[in-house]
This record gives sequence, C-alpha cells and structure tokens, in this order.
Amino acid sequence: MGAPVPFIDLQAQYHRLKPQIDARMHAVLDHGQFILGPEVAEFERALGEFAGGTHVIGVSNGTDALMMALLVQDIGPGDAVYVPSFTFTATAEAVLMLGATPVFVDVLEDSCNLDADDLVRAISQTKGLRPKAVIAVDLFGLPADYQRIGAVAAAHGMQLIADAAQSMSGAIDGVRVGKLAPLTATSFFPAKPLGCFGDGGALFTSDTEMAEKLRSIRGHGTGKAKYDIVRIGMNARLDTLQAAILLVKLTVLEQERSNREKLSRYYDSRLSNMVPVPARPAGYQSAWAQYTIQLDHRDRVQAALSKSGIPTQIYYPRPMHLQPAYAGYGGGAGSLPASENLSRKVLSLPMHPYMPEEVAARICDALCAAVRAGE
Ligand SMILES: *Cc1c(COP(=O)(O)O)cnc(C)c1O
Repeated sequence: MGAPVPFIDLQAQYHRLKPQIDARMHAVLDHGQFILGPEVAEFERALGEFAGGTHVIGVSNGTDALMMALLVQDIGPGDAVYVPSFTFTATAEAVLMLGATPVFVDVLEDSCNLDADDLVRAISQTKGLRPKAVIAVDLFGLPADYQRIGAVAAAHGMQLIADAAQSMSGAIDGVRVGKLAPLTATSFFPAKPLGCFGDGGALFTSDTEMAEKLRSIRGHGTGKAKYDIVRIGMNARLDTLQAAILLVKLTVLEQERSNREKLSRYYDSRLSNMVPVPARPAGYQSAWAQYTIQLDHRDRVQAALSKSGIPTQIYYPRPMHLQPAYAGYGGGAGSLPASENLSRKVLSLPMHPYMPEEVAARICDALCAAVRAGE
C-alpha cells in the first residue's frame, strides 16, 4: 500500500496561493472592517463579472442563501416547493425552515439531476398546496437541465431557483452558472469548487430590485437607514475575511476547473469500459465538484479501495424522502426509484485540481483490481 491519497487537497491549493491570500487577509486585519468591508463588494463585483454580468449578494453560507431565495419570493406555509430527493439535506431543509412544504421529485439516473418529467408528475399529484417553486440542484457540479425545468416551472407559474452549491464554474452552452436561472444560490464551504476558509455563500440575480431586497434581507431587513426595518430579514452576511480569500481563489477558478476536467477525462479513459461514469450532456460544462461512478457492489469496492489507502465518499447514502426527519413529506420506499437506486450505487472518487497523474493512475489501478476481483 502506498501513501494515503487525500480525497481533496486544500493544502496544495493554499500552498500555491499563499502569498496572495496572506496579503489579502493581512489587509483586512489592518483596516479592521470585518463586517461588510470593501472586499465584500469587490468580490461581489468580480464574481458577478465571472458569471457573465449579474448582481451577486455575498452571504453567510449556502443554506442561508437558499432560505433567502425562498424568503425574497414570499414562499411560506401552504406553498409546495419541488426539490430532488437525491441531494444534500440543505435543499429540503431550507424549504421547511420557511414553513413551506418540500415535495420530493426523482432524478435522472445518468445525470443524477432533477427529472423534468417527474416534476410534471409531482405537480399533477399535488393536493392542498400551491405549487410555488422548484429548486434544481447541480449535483456533483453538472448544471441541471434549466431549459426543460424552466419551461415546466413557467407553464405552472412557479419560480425557478438554482441550488448551485456544487457547480461554481459550470456552464451550459457557454452560459455560466449564476446566469442559468433567475435566482441562483451557492456555497463557499471549503470543499466546494469555489471554497473559502470557513462558511460562505452567495446569491446571483439579474433582477436589480430583487438584488436590493436580498441585500436588505441579509442585514436584518433594513431599509435606506440603518435602523429602518422594512421587512423580516436575517443575519446572513459574508465575512470580509472570507471575501478577501475568495477574491484570490476566484482568479484561479477557471484554471482549476480545467485541471478537474483533465482529471475527469483521465478517469473516463481508464474506467468507462468497466463502470458507468458521469454523464456528459452535449454543451454542458461540469464544475467537477465530484467524479461519481455507479457500482453494483459498491460497498465491497469501497472497502477494497480503503485498504489500498484510497478514500472515497458516498454522496448520498440515503435519498431525502427516506430520511427519518423527512419521511413525512415523501411517498416511502419505492416511490422515487432512480434516487433510491443511485443511493445504493454511487461512489465518488478523489477529485481536486492538483492531483498528480501518478496518483490518479494508482486510484484507477486499485479500482480496476477491486471491480475485477468481484467478477
Ligand atoms: C453544500 C450544499 C449546500 C449547503 O451549503 P452550506 O454552505 O454548507 O450551507 C446546499 N445544497 C447543496 C447541493 C450542497 O452541496
């Protein structure tokens, strides 16, 4: 067994960017404006430009960003919000925190993203609630099918929200995440494609009025004057220090995406004739937050890899509609078959922009041996 491989390697990135990040952080320590200091607005401008020209509102984390996306559209009790069952908890949690009802929708087994046809089914079966919004998740970095999901939402007079926590730097036909939906929420949790050194998040919108409301909500619902409270808000600001760090990391995001892309192509070349590898819909650019394969004997293969010093992760071992805390909102086992199948089969391999090729080769060698051992 060789040296243990890291699942993601944040140290490698910090090592490369250390002089710039340290300088930016020290500048904040020197000016001392820790709350909404100048770096926050500077980062919001830079990220808005990166996304192709949108307003960006820096916030405290991705979960708060999702809650704010619902709050700004007055979504609450009596409203149905459609979310994929195969996602991270926060997508559905935000809906319940607002008093609205999550309705779980199945995903497509190849892309792992929301199935527009199943969304139509779920809307048609909704009783006693107003179909109000759909949150599409860009799982593992691959943007959801915004064209089809957006068309279904529009046909039912519903809002479309993008949960892009995993997909910063992804795109469809050259249009970057942040501009694919009228309102997009993202996260800067350290392990995400654009991560900070703590918690952080952002919202994207091209609607100037909505952007102003979101800025107000982020700071307790203030109006023009500081103690003029015009709506119910939150304390959901992005820290100045995190914005300073993100400003540096944003400069290498596209290069890092291209490194991740290269690693994903290498994984494909070694694995695609053996196991289902991630979907690559035409025109879609994934941020490659994860490289996730599907295995029939997943747990056995994972154990064999672990013995070889190769860490893997299961995102996610249980679909939301079967989670104990959410079971009351779902249709039980068998109701969303693709989400249930995926949770039994998925395995995410180590993925980060600075993985040396010999490490990638070792991972593939071990994986091929583990899969063959079970044949
Ligand atoms: C990480 C994540 C979130 C929540 O982001 P936090 O910043 O951790 O609150 C929401 N949705 C998805 C799909 C995520 O992966």
